[in-house]
Formats: sequence, C-alpha cells, structure tokens
Amino acid sequence: MEIDNDALYHIKNAKCVTILTGAGVSAESGVATFRSYKDETKESLWSQYDPQKMASLEGFLENPNRVWQWYQWRRSELKTKEPNDAHKAIAKWQQSNSQSVTLITQNVDGLHQAGGSQNVTELHGNIWGNHCLQCRTEYKEGVDDIEEVIECPECGGQIRPSVVWFGEALPEHAWRDAESASYSCDLFLSVGTSSQVYPAAGLAALAKSQGATVIEINPEPTESSVVDYCVKGIASKFFLESL
Ligand code: NAD
Ligand code: ZN
Repeated sequence: MEIDNDALYHIKNAKCVTILTGAGVSAESGVATFRSYKDETKESLWSQYDPQKMASLEGFLENPNRVWQWYQWRRSELKTKEPNDAHKAIAKWQQSNSQSVTLITQNVDGLHQAGGSQNVTELHGNIWGNHCLQCRTEYKEGVDDIEEVIECPECGGQIRPSVVWFGEALPEHAWRDAESASYSCDLFLSVGTSSQVYPAAGLAALAKSQGATVIEINPEPTESSVVDYCVKGIASKFFLESL
C-alpha cells in the first residue's frame, strides 16, 4: 500500500485527530456495505428490495413487518461478525493517549465498541436498540426470534429499530459532538465511506475549512473535493502500516 510520506507525517504529528468511519470499515468483518446490499444475488430474499425503502419511515409505514424482518435478518447476520484489525487499531490508537483521537461512525453495527473503542459517536444510531415510533420510549426487552412488529407497552405504538433512517434528523448530541470534533481537529481521516450520505459527508469539509488536513482511505477513491491525500486501499492495512 502506498502512503504518501507527507500524509504519514501528518498522521504521526497531529495533536488532535478525528476519524469518520463508514460501512467500508466493517467490510473486512464480512458485513455488507450499503452498496453490496444493492448487489445481493438473486438467492437473497432482499435482492428485490431497495435498502432506501427498508431504511425509511415511509417504507416502514408502508409495510412495518417487512422492514422489521429486514432488520431482524441484518441482526442475525451481524451476530456472527467480529471486529477486524481496523476496528482494533483505532481502539488502540484512542487508548494510547499520545494523540487525542475522536471516533465518529456512520455504522450501526457496534463493531467499534466490540473492537475496544470506549468512546464512539454514533451518527446513525445502533441496530441493536429499539424504540417506540410514537412515544419514543426505548424498548429494552430482547427481540430475538420476533418476526412481527411489537406494540409499545406504554402507548401501543409500533416498535422500530433505533437507527437513523433516510430523511430523519441525526441524534442531536451525536451531531453536536461530531461537528465540534471536526471543527477542532488538525487531522481528519475519512475511512471506508462513500461520502455520499449527508450531513455526515459534510464533516470533512468542515474540518478542512478550519485548516485540518483531510486523508481518505478507500480502495475506491471517492470524488470528494476536500481530500488532501487519498490512500487507495483497505482500512486494516492502512492502520497496520501507518500507526
Ligand atoms: P457505503 O456502503 O456507501 O460505502 C462504503 C465505502 O467503503 C465504499 O466507498 C467502498 O469503496 C469502501 N470500502 C469497501 N471496503 C473497504 C475496506 N476494506 N476498507 C476501506 N474502505 C472500504 O457506506 P457509507 O458511506 O457508510 O454509507 C452508507 C450508509 O449505510 C450509512 O449511513 C450507514 O449507516 C449505513 N450502513 C451501515 C452498515 C454498518 O453498520 N456496518 C452497513 C451498511 C450500511
Ligand atoms: Zn410508545
């Protein structure tokens, strides 16, 4: 893997680092990225559905059980996955205390925490949680093997997964933390994200506007115009070779 020497210099010498991760960081754990959901083979029950429809309020209201079952399927897939070297290297970097390292993720899979990261700002929620669509009360009971949408014990509303769907606002506190970490860092790493889902995709530009260096790590470089250095390759290799 080719990592520009100036980029390496920034990685070693930055005082304050903000990392934004996307689905690509979990790809090496065998978790499908957003794009690969669309490429599912015909054998998959889900090949005929558009994830945008599965991950939207509109889709849920149209057919709550279909959406619930899609999340139950994703959860059952995720149960078999382990954090990979990229998750672990980021956690170790955060713990080393040699530099301040803030981790922001668009992932909902919980693999950063499983890999040892104690502080993770989750912009899009967490797939393991559930709450009521109507009164927003968290639903804490286990939902394994539950195939149909459950009713909220408080109000009778429908229980939904606690992920942020397309068109929904991000959790306020998470967004505030992400903005301030991007505003104040001197190095911003954008890892495994297609940089197409806003507002998360705007964080790199915010960092850059305040003078930070922006490095992207992706086997398929994006068209983002704010990137200073693009490292073409997979996340685990990048962290193993640069830290
Ligand atoms: P995306 O699927 O749009 O893009 C993934 C990016 O990762 C691509 O640019 C791809 O080239 C790159 N990539 C693939 N393998 C990689 C590797 N080994 N190392 C580094 N990069 C690699 O994902 P996104 O930008 O995160 O946006 C998709 C949305 O879907 C997000 O909102 C996210 O919440 C959701 N999502 C989450 C998960 C998850 O939690 N694991 C999975 C799929 C989708
Ligand atoms: Zn309720």
